[in-house]
Amino acid sequence: MRPVRIPALSPLAAALFLSACANAAPTPVVVTPPAPPAMHARLLDDVRILSAEDMQGRDTGAPGGEMARNYIVGRLEALGVAPPPMGRMQPWEMQGRTRAGAKTWNGVNVIGLIPGARVANRYIVVTAHYDHVGVNAEGQVFNGADDNASGVATMLALAADLKREAPDHSVLIVALDGEERGLLGARHFVEAPPVPLTSIAMNLNFDMTARAETDGKLWVTGTYQNSAFRPILEAIPANGAVALAFGKDTPQDTGEDNWVESSDHAAFHRAQIPFLYLGVNYHPDYHRPSDDFERITPSVFISATELSIASFRALDAALDR
Ligand SMILES: [Zn+2]
Repeated sequence: MRPVRIPALSPLAAALFLSACANAAPTPVVVTPPAPPAMHARLLDDVRILSAEDMQGRDTGAPGGEMARNYIVGRLEALGVAPPPMGRMQPWEMQGRTRAGAKTWNGVNVIGLIPGARVANRYIVVTAHYDHVGVNAEGQVFNGADDNASGVATMLALAADLKREAPDHSVLIVALDGEERGLLGARHFVEAPPVPLTSIAMNLNFDMTARAETDGKLWVTGTYQNSAFRPILEAIPANGAVALAFGKDTPQDTGEDNWVESSDHAAFHRAQIPFLYLGVNYHPDYHRPSDDFERITPSVFISATELSIASFRALDAALDR
């Protein structure tokens, strides 16, 4: 693992320190270096657990997928993220794809609601798919650490941040199932949304946030389609190991370099809901059994998650102004 960046004292820690000083007896102050913030350890734990062998590649409808789902529910409960009125679980049955052809898949989306402090009746829908492709015919497990245990962990870190300081807009935290089988969970979500589609201000989708050895970038896809978002995010500075980059969404971006249809945000886009997708570029372990926890880059993952949270905050502050 690469060393973790040590941030400045948080406002809460600073306030506690100052109040402690006000009452302090005149004893010598022992200065110890601050530990890495809990968020960083939590992030890495979430990816490690979700991409562990016992999750068996988190395939839709498989026991490993259910295990991942139960873990995510437990994390949301621990964070105090309540279910929406329709309930925590959104089960669905959809036609999807396999290498052998069409198949009916049974999946379950997991939903949490964080009420907004300023615009409670408008929603930002944050998504990350927790499913991956399971186990192949040779018995190789596709652990999907970057794709997409990382995005789920980033989303949980955002949820924790939003519980510390409430967002302006209400936020639906949605761990989607069935992405790998044709964006099934996302398609079901927009067909049977827990809130009216007209009340959804945008979708922010995280898919692969934990390594960027090819270009050092966290790509933002969708500003070609939703140009008002670009200046909002361009104001966010690069953060340590990763910088935001804009693209993979124009008519000149073709084939696998066009990501407009590449993940769950596509279902929102087709429903004419503004979207942005944050994710890293392809790497040699993409959709291979070697997409393992040991191959993610912690400094990149932490940096990309901090940029993701900063992006959310900037969008939340700018929307509906
Ligand atoms: Zn993915």
